[in-house]
Amino acid sequence: MEVIEKLKKKIEAYDPFKESLSFIFKYLILGFIWILLFQLLVDYFMPYGPAHELFHLFNEILFIIFSAVLIYFLMRRTLKDNYVISKNLIDQIEEIKSDEDKIEKFNLIEDMIDVGIWEYNLDNQQLYLSYWAQNKLNFHQKYTNQGPIEAIKEHIHPDDLQGAQNEWEDFLSSGKEKYHNIFRVQNNSQYIYIKHSGRILENKSDKTMKVIGTTTEITREKKLENKLYQLAYYDDFTNLPNEKYFTEKLEQKIKTDKINGSKSKFSVFYLEILDMDNISNFVGSLHGNNTAQKIADSLKEIPDLSLISHYYGDKFLLLFNNLSKQEDLEAKAKRIYDLIRKLWKNNEIDYFLNPKMGITTYPVNGDNARKLITRAHHAMHTIEESKQFYQVYDQTIYFEKLNNIRIKNDLRKAVENGELDLVYQPKINLNTDQIVALEALLRWQHPEFGQISPGDFIPIAEQSNLITQITRWVIKEVIKQFSINKILRDSKKIVSINLSAYDLKDDSLITFLEELIADEKLDPEQIDFEITESVFLDAVDKDLENLNKLKEAGFYISLDDFGKGYSSLSYLAKLPIDMLKLDMSFIRNLDQKKTRILTEKIIELSHDLDFQVIAEGVEEKSELDILKELNCDFVQGYYFYRPLPLEKLESIICLDCNIQTV
Ligand code: C2E
Ligand code: CA
Ligand code: CA
Repeated sequence: MEVIEKLKKKIEAYDPFKESLSFIFKYLILGFIWILLFQLLVDYFMPYGPAHELFHLFNEILFIIFSAVLIYFLMRRTLKDNYVISKNLIDQIEEIKSDEDKIEKFNLIEDMIDVGIWEYNLDNQQLYLSYWAQNKLNFHQKYTNQGPIEAIKEHIHPDDLQGAQNEWEDFLSSGKEKYHNIFRVQNNSQYIYIKHSGRILENKSDKTMKVIGTTTEITREKKLENKLYQLAYYDDFTNLPNEKYFTEKLEQKIKTDKINGSKSKFSVFYLEILDMDNISNFVGSLHGNNTAQKIADSLKEIPDLSLISHYYGDKFLLLFNNLSKQEDLEAKAKRIYDLIRKLWKNNEIDYFLNPKMGITTYPVNGDNARKLITRAHHAMHTIEESKQFYQVYDQTIYFEKLNNIRIKNDLRKAVENGELDLVYQPKINLNTDQIVALEALLRWQHPEFGQISPGDFIPIAEQSNLITQITRWVIKEVIKQFSINKILRDSKKIVSINLSAYDLKDDSLITFLEELIADEKLDPEQIDFEITESVFLDAVDKDLENLNKLKEAGFYISLDDFGKGYSSLSYLAKLPIDMLKLDMSFIRNLDQKKTRILTEKIIELSHDLDFQVIAEGVEEKSELDILKELNCDFVQGYYFYRPLPLEKLESIICLDCNIQTV
C-alpha cells in the first residue's frame, strides 16, 4: 500500500508538458553556450583561412555530436524515471494480483472447511470479517468499528442474545486467553447455530492486542445433540421428561439453593399408579402410554408443581415448591389421589386407577437428588394398608425395611458361611425327673449385628423361600451330631426339630429324611417334629398328607404353641399328633383359676385322645408344682435348662445317664 502511495505521488508529480519544456530549455541553453563559446574561441585563436573554414565545419559536426550526447543523457534520465515508475507499477499490479489470488484461494479454503475468520483489534476496536465469516454471520462488511457480537446482534436469536453478549463480555473482563460462544443467527430466513471462538494475540510489530477468531456453523451437530438430548432426557412414548432430567434439574435446584443460602423447601413425590400395568398388559401398551400422558396432563394443573417426569411404566416423579407443613403435603397428596382415582375413559374402555405416593422434603429427608428420590420410593414401599395412599418418608420405617432386606440377603449366605448353629433345650419327664428329649433351636451369629433371634429371621426366611434350605441344614446337622456324638446316640434321647408351615409343602422332605436316617442307621422315633398349630390355619389337604407321611414313616409329631391365639379343638381330632405342647402363655397364667382349670381339662382331653402333654417356658417352681399336680407329662423351660450348645449338654446328659443307671 505504501509503495502504491509513493508511486501515485510520483506519477502525479510528473508533468509531461513541464518535463518537455525543461528538456528543450536545457538543450537551448547548452546549444547557445556551445555555439557562442566555440565561435569566440575559434575566431580569437585561429586566423581566417581554409583552416578556419574547416574548423567551422568541424564545429558543426562536433555540435551535432555534442547535442546528440546531450539529448541522449537528458532523455535517458527522463525515460529512466518513467521506466522505474512503470516497473514499480507493474510489480505492484502483479503483487496485487497475487494477493487477490491468495484471497480467492483463502475464500475457497474457508468455504471448503466451512470456517469464517474474524479479527478484532482491541486497541482501535476495529473488526475485520473474512468473506465466509460475513456470509455465515449475515453481516456483509469487511471492516466495522463494532465488537464481534455487537455487529451481528440484530441477527442473533432473541433467546440467545443475552447469553452471547455475556459470554463475550465475560471473556473480555476475565483476561482469559480463549473465547467460546454458541448462539443462533438468522441466515436465509432460518436460524443456524454458530460456534464463535477466538484467542487473544499480541501483534509483535506494533504491540496491538487482537482477538483472532473463527465462526463455524454447527447446526447439524446441534440438531444431533438436541436429538440425543431428547433421547437421553425424555421418555420415548410419553414425551415427558424422564428420571435423568428430573434428577439433574433437582440437583441444580439444590445447588442453587445452597449457593444462595435461600433455605427453600421443596418436596419430591414418588407416584406409582398401581393398576396402570394392567392397562398395558390387557388393553395394550398404547393405552398405557395414552393414560400416562393423560395423567401427566392433569397433574400439570396442580398448583406449585414445578416439575413432572415419567419415571417408567406406571411411575412418576413430581416436584413441588413451598410445601412446608405436613398438612400441605397431605392436601397435595389428596389432590393427586382424587385426580387419578376418578374414572379414566380411554377409547371406550373404563378403568379405575389406584395411586400411591411416597414423599420426601428437601432438606429434612435428604440433601441430594438421589437421596430424595430413593427415599420417596422407599416411603411409597412402606405403605402397607390398602386405605393409605401416601407416606411421608420416616427413617425408622426405612431402617426397619432396609434391615429386612439386608437380613434377607445375608441369610442367603449364612448357611454357606457357617454362621448358623444349633443349641439344644432339654425336655424333662415329670414322672422320672429325667431328660427325655432335646429341642434343637437355631442360632444365627450375624457377622455385623451379632446374634439374631430365630423369632426374627425365621419369618424372613419363610417369606424369601429360604426356609426349605434352612430346615434341611437343621435336619442334616441334627442327624450328623447324632451320628458323631456317642452319648447322644447311646442315651437314645429324642431330638425335636421345628418345622415351618412351608416345610409341609415340600413333597421331597420325607424322601430326604428317610435317606438320611437310613445312612446314619437312626430310628425315626428318635426324631420329633414340632409343628406350630398356626400352620394348619392355611393348610391344604396336601400339607396334611405330608404330615401323615411323616407320622407313617415313624417320626414323632408334636403340636407346638398350643393355645397361642388360634386354638381350635378340631385340630386335635384331625392331626396325627403324639404330643401337645402347651404354649407358655398358659404357664404364665397358671396362678389364675380359669387358666388352671383350662390347662387341667386340656391335659385330660389330650390323655383321653392318647397324646402326651408338655408345658414349655416353665420358669418357676410354682409353675412346675401346678403342672405336676395337673398331670402334665413333660416340662421344658429355664427353670431346668436354658437352650445350650451340645458340648455343655454332654455332661448334663451323662450325669443324667448316671442317675439312670444307679
Ligand atoms: P418355639 O419353638 O416355641 O421355641 C421355644 C422358644 O422359647 C425358644 O426361643 C426358647 O429359647 C424359648 N424358651 C425356652 N424356655 C423358655 C423359658 O422358660 N422362658 C422363656 N421366656 N422362653 C423360653 P428361641 O430359641 O428364640 O426360638 C424362637 C422360635 O423360633 C421358636 O419358638 C421356633 O418357632 C423358631 N425356631 C427356632 N429354631 C427353629 C428351627 O430350627 N426351625 C424353625 N422352623 N423354627 C425355629
Ligand atoms: Ca418349638
Ligand atoms: Ca413353642
